[in-house]
Amino acid sequence: MEKLNITHNDMEECSIEKSGVLPIYSVTPFTMLDFPKHTACIVWFSGCNMRCPYCHNPQIVKSKGRGDVGQVMEFLKKRQGLLDGVVLSGGEASAYPGLPAFIRKVKDMGYAVKLDTNGLRPDIIKSHLDAGFLDYVALDYKAPPKKFKHVTGTDKYDLFSQTLDLLCTQKKVEFEVRTTVHTALMDEEDVSTIIRDLEQRGFLGTHAVQNFTHSDERPTLGLMKAQDRLLDIHKLHVPQSFNVVFRNF
Ligand code: SF4
Repeated sequence: MEKLNITHNDMEECSIEKSGVLPIYSVTPFTMLDFPKHTACIVWFSGCNMRCPYCHNPQIVKSKGRGDVGQVMEFLKKRQGLLDGVVLSGGEASAYPGLPAFIRKVKDMGYAVKLDTNGLRPDIIKSHLDAGFLDYVALDYKAPPKKFKHVTGTDKYDLFSQTLDLLCTQKKVEFEVRTTVHTALMDEEDVSTIIRDLEQRGFLGTHAVQNFTHSDERPTLGLMKAQDRLLDIHKLHVPQSFNVVFRNF
């Protein structure tokens, strides 16, 4: 899908906020696929607190940003009545310190908000849940504890675990869990460990297991090669209390 890249010329026209901070990489102006039951845009935040080798967005993860919040607000003003949702993605939106003020403005304009997150900021997730800022959360469950650093470049599984607990114990905001699999990084036992953990925590939503897709034209952050084999989804633990869906298998 075409992305609306925010340029410095656009910034000159912006009248709401010129902080000098450029947290935004780009905006995808329209999607019907990324926010269930909503017509939405996607705001891509620059920077990330993980370094997943299979990441398809290295330019966003490493970028210092190209656009500011005011430009996005101008865009959202023009789309009022045409869109009803905003997806906050990246990179990692929750790593942007100005996110609470940003979401408040988006909510004040009447938009529903979906947050895509890797879960490393339970403090942010909690405060946003408490404030009623979130309407939907998609949480990446990257890897079980013993593989977490290998898959994400950080050893902060405990922070992710706190976020997962927060979301599992609240009942107000719908959320889904997603796991991307490259079999050079994770095998069937690792994915089954994740599924069992979700069962034990009382997860009731949908867990999407996503097959890594390789493209020579789109090198990943860790320059991952194509998989030697696909995950054998028939060997995975089958949960009793929630659905597992498979994407790109
Ligand atoms: S795939 Fe990993 S590195 Fe890339 S944006 Fe998501 S959390 Fe960050």
